[in-house]
Amino acid sequence: DNAQPKKPDWIRVKAPTSDGYRKTHAIMREHKLVTVCEEAGCPNAGECWSQGHATMMIMGDICTRGCTFCNVATGRPDVLDVFEPGRVADAVAKLGLKHVVITSVDRDDLEDGGAEHFAMTIRAIRKRSPETTIEILTPDFLKCDDSVLETVVAARPDVFNHNLETVPGLYPTVRPGARYFHSLRLLQRVKEIDPSMFTKSGLMVGLGEDRQSVHQVMDDMRAADIDFLTIGQYLQPTSKHHRVDRFVTPDEFKAYEKTAYGKGFLMVSATPLTRSSYHAGDDFARLREA
Ligand code: SF4
Ligand code: SF4
Repeated sequence: DNAQPKKPDWIRVKAPTSDGYRKTHAIMREHKLVTVCEEAGCPNAGECWSQGHATMMIMGDICTRGCTFCNVATGRPDVLDVFEPGRVADAVAKLGLKHVVITSVDRDDLEDGGAEHFAMTIRAIRKRSPETTIEILTPDFLKCDDSVLETVVAARPDVFNHNLETVPGLYPTVRPGARYFHSLRLLQRVKEIDPSMFTKSGLMVGLGEDRQSVHQVMDDMRAADIDFLTIGQYLQPTSKHHRVDRFVTPDEFKAYEKTAYGKGFLMVSATPLTRSSYHAGDDFARLREA
């Protein structure tokens, strides 16, 4: 049965109507960019876009994976657009962003999983906007040679983010095609290659996990030296996607935040509407000032 529990009133979505929102929208269209904000139907788009914060999704809008929580289309992706890094850099400059988050679909069809395209995008942004801090949210490069990670790290993003998404017991139903320990190890290797780089990961809750498993994931993440953690409520994009098991209460999120800080994360965001890229810039700026 795919019936959903009723949405509680703490999951509220503001209508996207501001001038800032329209400006962000126009810049994305003008540069022919895909955003995860739109692809995922993110509930924060009204708020984020009014401030110019859009998370661009590179390498197309068709993914070679089919995670059951995700609204991105699965199929055979298009060839890489070599002009995309330049367009992303132009858009970042036009938006005047202090911090940008770049993500992508999974490209199991490419030998390097898109590592070089990520590196080119980072370098293009750096060149146009040297003051902008860059956060990347990458796929898992599962089918690639280990060296592709070095290509991405060598381009020196400020934050390397890769989401574990859920507890290991739910991988077969939530993230088929991915491997929990591979994803964990990927982040650990980023730290080994460049200990000065911040690493970040995230979980969705409300998929059917229990609290102990979430705490275990936090321990695994700390053992892999992961610095930042995000935890947010899973929302079902369409009735064909994984069902919402339950809505985790704001108090439970607060408890997760407290536990996570206790385990040594440098920065934690755990609220119902937390997403990987939600307030990422503000949080990062605060950390750098501290
Ligand atoms: Fe986009 Fe992230 Fe904001 Fe959602 S939280 S609208 S994905 S920038
Ligand atoms: Fe969606 Fe990423 Fe999974 Fe592709 S790999 S289906 S973009 S979550």
